[in-house]
Amino acid sequence: MGCAEVIALDQVRARQHWTTLRQRLHERFDRWLDQLEAALPESEPTLGGVSETIWALRQQLTGGIAETIVCHTHPEEQHRQQRLCPTCARLLPARGPVPRCVETMVGAVELKRPYFYCQLCHAGSYPLDEVLGVCAGRMQPDIQQAAVDLATEIPYETASTLFGRLTGIPVSSERLHTFTHQVAEGLSVVEVAPSREEIDRRVGQVAAGRFRRPVLVLGIDGAYVPSRPASARGRRPGQARRRARRARWRHEWREAKGFRFYLLDGERIVHLLSWHQVYTEEQLGEALAQVKKAGLIPEDHVRLCVVADGAEWIWKHVQALFPNACQVLDYYHCAEYLHKVAKAQYGQTVQALEWVEATLSRLYLGKLGTVLGGLRRMQPTSDEARKAIDNCWIYLNEHRGRTNYGTLRRGGYPLGSGGMESANKFICHVRLKRSGAWWYEESSNQMLALRCAKYNGTFAHVFTRSQHQKADS
Ligand SMILES: [Zn+2]
Repeated sequence: MGCAEVIALDQVRARQHWTTLRQRLHERFDRWLDQLEAALPESEPTLGGVSETIWALRQQLTGGIAETIVCHTHPEEQHRQQRLCPTCARLLPARGPVPRCVETMVGAVELKRPYFYCQLCHAGSYPLDEVLGVCAGRMQPDIQQAAVDLATEIPYETASTLFGRLTGIPVSSERLHTFTHQVAEGLSVVEVAPSREEIDRRVGQVAAGRFRRPVLVLGIDGAYVPSRPASARGRRPGQARRRARRARWRHEWREAKGFRFYLLDGERIVHLLSWHQVYTEEQLGEALAQVKKAGLIPEDHVRLCVVADGAEWIWKHVQALFPNACQVLDYYHCAEYLHKVAKAQYGQTVQALEWVEATLSRLYLGKLGTVLGGLRRMQPTSDEARKAIDNCWIYLNEHRGRTNYGTLRRGGYPLGSGGMESANKFICHVRLKRSGAWWYEESSNQMLALRCAKYNGTFAHVFTRSQHQKADS
């Protein structure tokens, strides 16, 4: 009984609290209406005119609402008279209140909060900021997250312009760089990867109602990104900002090596995890090993299959980490080798096309022995042809166990790494290959890490992590 009364009393209090707040909000809205009245066009306005006027004033309305609500919360911290020093436990009297203005997505919010300073510890604190979760700096995390979200899609300059136009909040491209750097700093593959639970959920969806375990494909490949050397970073005497000077360095194309885990669901691809970086083969191997060690791949619940081209280092890592995976040599890569042979041997002729088609069909049907025998029996028409034939034979022979395309097809395995090519495109090329954009290794890797996080569905999580790191430091 007593308990019910307490709840009822709490409800009354909450009701009164809300009634007061509503009153304040109405007053705030009235003040905004005065502003709107003054700003509206005098004669018969068009819809566009009304929209434009409200658009220009909207941050004042929404920011004002946020400010009124915030002022109404945490009354014990708003009016706190004293607090114990968190370090030496001395009793400290309130100073202030000290005003502070912060920017949020809904507009500027003015805070007035008591300040506590310990002269022994030389440390000050604002308990209200702490309970409100206000972060250091004027721009709050919601702005930072939205801005980084945009900057990982389009060039910084464009992102800055568009962000200002669409939100009413000016963020310079330098700030965008800084925010992006802060979020992406030190990200590893495991931090941008979805959780094992999430991966299991996606696997479960594809597996539902099927007799066979779903095929989980690991594609490994490289994509070229435009780079500039670290030596391009420099400062001329008297120049305040660090800026790369074009004339002093030569651009280069560097390989972003990547891997992608994805499920095959009929014709559809269900994405699981991507990771692309400009780094060495060994580092890619380490990243793959981290994924394996973190237990992210449910090897017992899928049929794991690795698709890649002929690069030796790729298969070395695969063999070491996923020895039971089915290995597939990219069918389209094979086709390139065959086209080279045909061109060298038969030139631009119908015969060349016929030979490629016939040979590809044999490969497709899994008749590798016949293809290798055919290559052996070919009479080279030139030195170039001999070289192409030899290369092709060596290539196909080396990857013998990876070209059983007939069996693979019947097993529902992929023959090519189309899923990897599209990842290269939407993770690397779309953002990094822009005319005139040449990336420092660190910047390109940070951008790649964030774009991977986006496609892995972990961008919000990665952002929150960076906020916690900032708060702890
Ligand atoms: Zn103290």
